[in-house]
Parts: sequence; structure tokens; C-alpha cells
Amino acid sequence: MHKNPYPSDNFETQAIRTQSERSPHREHAAPIYMTSSYLFDDAEDARAIFANEKAGLIYSRYDNPSNDEFVDKMVVLEGAEDGVATASGMAAVYGALAGTLSAGDHILAGRSLFGSTYQLFSTILPRFGITTTFFDLLAPESWEKLVTPATRLVYVETPTNPGLDLVDLEFLSQLCREKNLILVVDNGFATPYLQNPLKLGASLVVHTATKYIDGQGRGLGGVILGSAALIEKIRFFVRQTGPALSPFNGWLFSKSLETLAVRMDRHCDNAEFLANELKNHKALAALTYPFLASHPQVALAKRQMRRGGGMLTLELKGGLEAGRKFLDHLEMLSLTANLGDSRSTATHPASTTHSKLSEAERLAVRITPGLVRISVGLEHPQDVLRDILQALSV
Ligand SMILES: *Cc1c(COP(=O)(O)O)cnc(C)c1O
Repeated sequence: MHKNPYPSDNFETQAIRTQSERSPHREHAAPIYMTSSYLFDDAEDARAIFANEKAGLIYSRYDNPSNDEFVDKMVVLEGAEDGVATASGMAAVYGALAGTLSAGDHILAGRSLFGSTYQLFSTILPRFGITTTFFDLLAPESWEKLVTPATRLVYVETPTNPGLDLVDLEFLSQLCREKNLILVVDNGFATPYLQNPLKLGASLVVHTATKYIDGQGRGLGGVILGSAALIEKIRFFVRQTGPALSPFNGWLFSKSLETLAVRMDRHCDNAEFLANELKNHKALAALTYPFLASHPQVALAKRQMRRGGGMLTLELKGGLEAGRKFLDHLEMLSLTANLGDSRSTATHPASTTHSKLSEAERLAVRITPGLVRISVGLEHPQDVLRDILQALSV
């Protein structure tokens, strides 16, 4: 860990002024360290660095200064003790689990999950003897009863994708502390600007950097953050198994963090504007946004999130046909699986991101046939509104 050269409790300053050491050229902006390995002065230097008796870089699967600056910033922004960068968000999710669990362990996971995370729990981890019970996010009183002697870890997303349901992280952290369980929170939808699960008691936070952290849809990456003790185990797993973040992407994300607060505030402004303009539209059965008065968990949202985020969902009255027709008539919004981009995007989860689930599994997480997920971008909000209105009117 490098020292923050200008100690501050303010997010914007931390995101900009946390930096790794500079080279003898004294670059103002961070350089990109495109190197796979590092030199030793002599045989004794190499021995001492390998033996951990002396600080020094060995190999970029272990460490790279471009990635270290990204991780250092995320550690400060999430209030963690330590962190590890990964090649993607899914590598962060998998690393957090594989680095801490063993065969025979049991996971409790909120039922509403990112599609690949759900596949990891339901089809991949069982092959290694790790089983998962899914719980209903909206029934917190039922959670304690699901803990078994083999349960080691609880995993949640909040707000969820795409339903935008919330989990009370303080309540869940308390329960996990009492039962001695590791609580892992995927904070990808909120970003460290809007929500800090570690400060609410979680043990580990995982992020995809691919979404809001990069914010412009340019590269894949992720990061795992938490206590020094847990991260030490996870770092060993990640270093030995190889999902290393490319230094170019580490550099990209470190620079992207410098504008995260500004971008997230604008994403939130634009999403709030659209939610208010569209909430009574006659073609919609429902519109979901965490900070809208009609959201069933709006009080919790305002307690644990700084603002409501950039995602909203539309429930079209006409179901599957209306959902597909709406997407086909959008002129500006991008039809793409990505989210958290400067460009507004629209997705139909039932036929794309969550198509591998059965109809019953989809309905259990309230992915109805007419649900459309909008990731509100940074275009002028009147233009986003105009495109949605014209596509709803055909
Ligand atoms: C995209 C996403 C992931 C996976 O991240 P990748 O970078 O695509 O591997 C995990 N969780 C959430 C909430 C996501 O949106």
C-alpha cells in the first residue's frame, strides 16, 4: 500500500489524490507499466524479495504498479484494509469464494443475482462440493433459519440486477457476525460512491470495474476488498490461479475513478429525472427506481445509499411482445448487455441476460416477460426521455 499523499475524508479527493509512486521522470498522470516482470539487482536481492524480507516487485501476475494504484484507490474509497485486482468482475466473485471456501462448505445467497454469479452457485461450485441455498431477499425474518452447521458465507447484491430490490446490510451484517459467517456484497450497481458495505459491517466487497467504474464500456476488470486477513487468503488464490488484471485496464480504471463521483451524480440526476417523467406513463404497469416514493424499500435505500443510482426498470403492460417491440423501436438507446456506461442502454432480461433461468426461476426474482432494464447514461436527459417516449408510443 502506498500512502495517500493528501489525507482527506472526501471521496472526490481520495479518488484523485491516492496514487502509486512515480518513476524518476516524475509523471503527473500515472504511467502504464506494460511489463510482465521486474529486475533484481543481484542474487541476494532476488532471494530477499522472494523470501518477503524486502519489498520489491517480482512478476505482473502478482503485482503491477498500474493495478496497485487502482486497488489502493478502491481500498480507500470502500474503507477496506486491503484488496486484490482481477481480470473481470466474475473473477472477483469467484476469487472471493474460492479463496475462502472449501469442499463441504455451504453458501446462503440472495436469490436475485447477476446471471453468471447464479450459474457459478447453481452449476459450477456444486462440482467442487460447495452448495448454495438461495433465500428470498424480501423475507429477512426467514434468513436465520437457513443457516446450517456447514454454512460459511452469505452472498448478496444490493440493489439487485435487474429487480432493484435492496438488502438491509446493517441487519444482515449483524446476523452474520452473530453466526460467524463471511458476508460478501457485490457492490457493482451502487459503486463506492453511493454505498459502502464494509462500513455497514460486510466482510468482503466485490466489484466489476467493467460497469460504472470504467463508465465508458472500454474494458473488463474487477476488484475484491476487505480485511487484511481475508484478502491475504484471496490474494494467494488469485496469484496462483492467474486471473490477473491487465496493467492497461488497471491504469484505465484508476483514471476512471477520478471522475466517478461526477459521473455518478449525473447518472443519478438523469435517472431521477426519467423516473419522475415516466412513472405515470399509460403504457407502463410499473416503474422501479430505489429513490422513488413508490419503491417498497425507499426508506432503506435512503438510509444505506447516498443516491438512487443510474438503473431503472420499466414493466410494460403488454408483456413480452410489448417489451420486444419497445426495444426494436428505440432509436438512440443501445441494445447491449452492458450497463453503467456513458451511453444509455436497454436490455430485456427475460430473453437475454436471464434467459438461462426457467420461467419459474425468473418470476421468483420478479423478472416478468415485460420487464425492460434501462441503464441511464450521460446523454442529455431530454434526449433519453424523447427516445423512450417515442418507443413507448408505437
Ligand atoms: C457485470 C456484473 C458482474 C460481472 O462482471 P464482469 O466484469 O462482466 O465479469 C458482476 N456483478 C454485477 C452486479 C454485474 O453487473
